[in-house]
Amino acid sequence: MDCRWLLWMPLLWAAGCSQPARDAAPVIESASTANKGAKPMSDKVEKSQEEWRNILTPEQYRILREKGTERAFTGKYWNFKGEGTYVCAGCGQELFTSDTKFDSGCGWPSFWDAVDKSKIVTKDDNSFGMRRIEVMCSRCGGHLGHVFDDGPKPTGQRYCINSASISFKEKKGKKQNEANGK
Ligand SMILES: [Zn+2]
Repeated sequence: MDCRWLLWMPLLWAAGCSQPARDAAPVIESASTANKGAKPMSDKVEKSQEEWRNILTPEQYRILREKGTERAFTGKYWNFKGEGTYVCAGCGQELFTSDTKFDSGCGWPSFWDAVDKSKIVTKDDNSFGMRRIEVMCSRCGGHLGHVFDDGPKPTGQRYCINSASISFKEKKGKKQNEANGK
């Protein structure tokens, strides 16, 4: 009689132990669905043609708002080597830094990466019988240039940007003497 109970004991004990595990099963709420439809952090800049014409130069307007292209080797920054940040000439959003600028020889300022992928928007552009990828500012939708996959390491990308689409901001804390001594 006693012996039979001893045989059953370990089985009952094991069954009891397995019980809490089922209760502990985690309940994970989907965080991604909660954010659906939420506005992005940076507010979009939307202006009428008229408003853009008032704040941009004719060259900036032609390029940013009408997807124009400045002539190679004519822009302000293709051969510029200052240290700092390049912001969108339309809305002021930071787009590129001098750390990723390189001399591509193409006649337009070239960068191998953007400050942040969220700052730019890309779109297929098949105009002029070419297959290119257009680069735009994510905040104001301004046309910046195109991105090609023949850039240097580490990204292998070449953001070919119109000087008129961007505005240079010198790095803060840079010694004035240094800048003047050139
Ligand atoms: Zn912009």
